[in-house]
Amino acid sequence: MLFYIYIGKKPYIILFKIIKLNIMEKHRVGITRYRKKIKSLRRVVELSGAFNVLKGDERIFLKPNIVFWSTVPDYPAYGVVTTSRIVEDTIILLKELGIKDITIGEGTVTLDPKDIKTTQHAFESLGYNRFKGKYGIKVINVLERPFKKLELGDNIQLNFNVDALNSDLIISLPVLKTHSQAKVSLSLKNLKGLIDVPSRKKCHTPDTEKDLEFYLYHLPKKLPPVVAIIDGIFTNERGPGYDGVMRRSNILIASSDMLSADKVGASVLGYDPLDVSYLSYFAQENNRPIDLSDVEVVGKPIESVRDHHEYQFAYNEDGTRPTAFVKQGINGISYRQYDNTTCTYCSLITGLLPIAITYAWDSTQGEPWDDVEVIMGKRMNPTPGKKKTILLGQCMVNKHRNNPDINEMIPIKGCPVKPENITKAFHQAGVKIHPDFFENLENIPRFFGLAYKNRFNEFQESFFNDEIEDETVPPIDNISVSQFFLDTNKDSNGLPEKQGKFEVRFFGLVGEKNTNAIKNITAEGPKGYEFHFKNQLFDNKNGNGYIVDNYNRQMIWYLGYDRNGFLEDGKYKFTIDYWNGETRYKSRILQTNNKFLENYLKLKNKIDYSYEEKPKYMGDPRIYVNTKWTTLNKLKGVDAYYALYVSKGRKDFINLHDLTHFDNIYVTSILMPSFGLNKSSALVNTRWRPLNPDSEYSWLTEICDSNSYSNINMTIHQPIQYFKTN
Ligand code: SF4
Repeated sequence: MLFYIYIGKKPYIILFKIIKLNIMEKHRVGITRYRKKIKSLRRVVELSGAFNVLKGDERIFLKPNIVFWSTVPDYPAYGVVTTSRIVEDTIILLKELGIKDITIGEGTVTLDPKDIKTTQHAFESLGYNRFKGKYGIKVINVLERPFKKLELGDNIQLNFNVDALNSDLIISLPVLKTHSQAKVSLSLKNLKGLIDVPSRKKCHTPDTEKDLEFYLYHLPKKLPPVVAIIDGIFTNERGPGYDGVMRRSNILIASSDMLSADKVGASVLGYDPLDVSYLSYFAQENNRPIDLSDVEVVGKPIESVRDHHEYQFAYNEDGTRPTAFVKQGINGISYRQYDNTTCTYCSLITGLLPIAITYAWDSTQGEPWDDVEVIMGKRMNPTPGKKKTILLGQCMVNKHRNNPDINEMIPIKGCPVKPENITKAFHQAGVKIHPDFFENLENIPRFFGLAYKNRFNEFQESFFNDEIEDETVPPIDNISVSQFFLDTNKDSNGLPEKQGKFEVRFFGLVGEKNTNAIKNITAEGPKGYEFHFKNQLFDNKNGNGYIVDNYNRQMIWYLGYDRNGFLEDGKYKFTIDYWNGETRYKSRILQTNNKFLENYLKLKNKIDYSYEEKPKYMGDPRIYVNTKWTTLNKLKGVDAYYALYVSKGRKDFINLHDLTHFDNIYVTSILMPSFGLNKSSALVNTRWRPLNPDSEYSWLTEICDSNSYSNINMTIHQPIQYFKTN
């Protein structure tokens, strides 16, 4: 159909516009859902024509994203690291096109600049070393290879990896994720892994105009052409690290045009590309529109896969405390959102510090800290009048060492900072960070990984190593068998003091209906002993069934008591039969810790229990109760681990299905191995389950001889206590 606008009698003006539209170059971007290995990637590559430029004789450099890595088992790579599935599928497609010269290269930063083992471990774990033999490719740690200084204009010089520079084409393989400093981290931002550490630090400049985003858009200027394949099998909200919130999103995006792929990727994550400064700069530099007017999306429309991902952790109105602090009533400390000047090493710390501070809050028993401020990066200034100012990192120390606005200066020198110095500095400020926290940095990812571990059919390790077989049934995470001593201040429904206690935990079994997967759980012990779990809702009377843990995303665990007395020592083998016909086993040795119980019985009459409701702090309407007890250690007895349980109402048992508070020392010990040891108080201030006014609560402390489920031999439930809020 033709439209004409006449000037005089001639219709050519509209005709001219149509011709102009037709010649505007459109860049094709493919979007597909991930469904099957090879097939899904092949489809998105074909739709987008991303590999159409290839002739077969090119040297290809694959740049996956391994932003962090840890050598501990169960590193949660979901949404943090490019899946090995997509890396391998890319290699297969390239091989089909006859490409012979393929290199995978990445430069993962670790806290110790001399540490090259962590990256080797990543390459091995992710299967890259196997790809070498299987496909005849090369794998390099960028940080171990030579760099070449390049002038990028605007007085910017950065050192680039020579292997990438010498290739004919770079394929950027980022994860579809948000980024706390740059909003989104996609194929262009992924190129930052090609520069050396001093160049990376340089990018996080304190200059407010030529800032990180300004540096980022210069990255591709002198690189070979870049093709983008964005891996959104797992996406990351509040990325880029493992402390974000991961989603199984099953999205693949590809284009031979990096900018178009990133504009589409940003849109899928819920951001207008115009609001992502480095993409805007890059578009402007290349005379391209920053909207999607020069992009042709093929495959799935953006709207059908768009899913907004927040990029930053929420903060209070004046930006001085994360909302999580506010919700938990943490006062007396200011911890501003780190800005885009915080780089490389410091950013590994700044995301973890709020967690360390949250745990330290418990030890204050609700007393605010003494007006402490923490500042970091290269640009922040201290707030005048603060009593104590912690300067995190050498840049802050250099900038503020003579700043008259600081009353008491607590510097944490170094780049990178030493973990033990962080603990020391916070202790000096009165913030008693658990000494284990920064001693145990390697283990922290495991703690975050628990949220995804064994999430059946959703977070599958085989995406990162196809030698790992996906479980076909919810796997067992932990078993526990211990002697159980029930101490009571009343007859407690006539339950015996001495019992046997059995537990089976499934992190990946969530919601009551999923108990249908379980047919039988049996524990076999010495001398033909058998304990059969029942597939029913546990209650205090039946003492045998599953708990639907509402405190913890409805995770299912099975708890059973043998009320015929203590168990025989020896090996206990748990057998879990599933309805699909499969069976799993796990066993452990029970070795009764009589000394532990004897010590408790000897000292129990000297144990005091108390609680106090904290005065309201500066108009905060919420209620905080501090519970306290005397530890055996304080009474010159044995060391023990203490976990607090609280539930609503005045009852002679704790409702495990609906806890108000649980001081979960068993999981927290992953972060801090000695957590719970001789712990003598716990602050009930949960942000998830606020306490109600004028209400009664029941609480008890569970004492164990270990804080690791599978090593507990003796569990004691101390007498139930009560508190009433005002
Ligand atoms: S001290 Fe921190 S902010 Fe400064 S250069 Fe080192 S890592 Fe970057």
